[in-house]
Amino acid sequence: TASLLWLRQDLRVHDHPALLAAIAGGAVIPVFILDDETPGTWKIGAAQRWWLHHSLTALGASLKKRGSKLILRRGAAHTELARIARETGSRRIHATHAYEPWWKHSEERLPTDIALVLHDGNYLAAPDSIVNGQGARYRVFTPWYRRLLDHMPPTLPQAAPDAVPAPASWPRSDDLADWDLLPTRPNWAAGFGAWCPGEKGAWRAARDWLDAIGDYKARRDYPAQPATSRLSPHLHFGEISPRALWHAIGERDDAGAESYRSELGWREHGINLVDQMPDYADRNGRELFDRFAWRTGADADRDFAAWTRGRTGYPVVDAGMRELWQTGWMHNRVRMVTASFLVKHLLIDWRRGERWFWDTLLDADLGSNAMNWQYVAGTGVDAPVFSRIMSPLLQCERFAMADYVRAHVPELAHLSDAEIAASHGRDSGAPGYPEPLIGHEAARARALAAWEAARG
Ligand code: FAD
Repeated sequence: TASLLWLRQDLRVHDHPALLAAIAGGAVIPVFILDDETPGTWKIGAAQRWWLHHSLTALGASLKKRGSKLILRRGAAHTELARIARETGSRRIHATHAYEPWWKHSEERLPTDIALVLHDGNYLAAPDSIVNGQGARYRVFTPWYRRLLDHMPPTLPQAAPDAVPAPASWPRSDDLADWDLLPTRPNWAAGFGAWCPGEKGAWRAARDWLDAIGDYKARRDYPAQPATSRLSPHLHFGEISPRALWHAIGERDDAGAESYRSELGWREHGINLVDQMPDYADRNGRELFDRFAWRTGADADRDFAAWTRGRTGYPVVDAGMRELWQTGWMHNRVRMVTASFLVKHLLIDWRRGERWFWDTLLDADLGSNAMNWQYVAGTGVDAPVFSRIMSPLLQCERFAMADYVRAHVPELAHLSDAEIAASHGRDSGAPGYPEPLIGHEAARARALAAWEAARG
């Protein structure tokens, strides 16, 4: 009988150990299940549904070319897998290791007479394989990354199969169009068209970008320059494997390549934290913050809404939030500024911002999102102290963000660099652009007072 290939965040055919293992056993039934039940409130967000639609379309075409077919089902993953196994007589499921808690829940609930075979493939190293001399796991990035490098380079990537053996008959499949994954709200997602989801798009982006990797370290913090790879959604959906990317970079040891490898390391560290603390996206890494007086109520709600809409009156923050809304992505430096602003200037619980990012980012990833939010908020296990407060004005000047602001905030397009910088925390006077929700010094004082109170 055929074995099932349970596809999750590994929507590719190149360098896919689970796919190759399934083929080695004979006929294969590739299955993707849209599971909005098991993850609970962490079900896939709105922006990623758009991506998923296109990525599944691309994968379906790629499998078809290989004589196979992508079977689509909707429901709790373990229930659907059991059902397909019953329908097809299949007793074996191959899948790529995934570490988000809901995947583990689904795996534990599979009927015991079905063998689940898990394969590495979406990370440079299995998170639990990176341990110190005493066999203990790491929670702090730098020693963890040093240890990861001892395991590098990863083994070589595997070629895509020419053909995927088909079963004698196919189980029923949903029609992708019936899943309604594409956005229906008009003013949203206008800039998503610039992306090309799917394995081919991932490799095109990777090849184009690798030509420019030499400048990465010097330019990666300047949002007005297209100096980062924009591979994050492709990596999240597993359209390109980090191992293949690592080998595509090759042995170059310039600052750009070294810096890029360490960013791939940050991605791994996010899942390393979630694997050790499955509720890391929901719970403060530092308990002190469980008694922190985050603002709540109508005023906080109004400020939160202004933040989501890019109407805080802080140009860099607003540019970032609008870039996110329109393109499904935001530059990393600006993610830090917008997140810090929500948490420290507006004194709103980081988890509200994390949820907003979850719904609007095309690259939303439980590990990366939780780790970065907790880091910026100061609540994380390895975060800098809360009292270090980012100044949007200084960030704007230091990382030359005026062009970026003008590109995303049309109300400010006529202002000079100096005028844009000066509007952080002060009224810009620009028609149609809001006054700042709070001045920088007042925000700083309020945040530090809340911090002192929480420390007792
Ligand atoms: P590049 O600079 O080209 O980096 C290459 C790859 O390394 C990225 O594609 C990504 O996979 C990884 N990477 C880079 N920086 C980080 C980082 N700081 N943490 C983890 N991985 C990193 N990234 C996500 O993939 N999903 C998220 O949900 C997410 N949420 C974030 C929330 C906040 C508050 C912050 C500050 C950062 C968040 N990041 C997240 C990390 C980072 O901003 C993005 O990975 C990066 O901007 C993606 O753009 P890129 O592909 O051009 O990155």
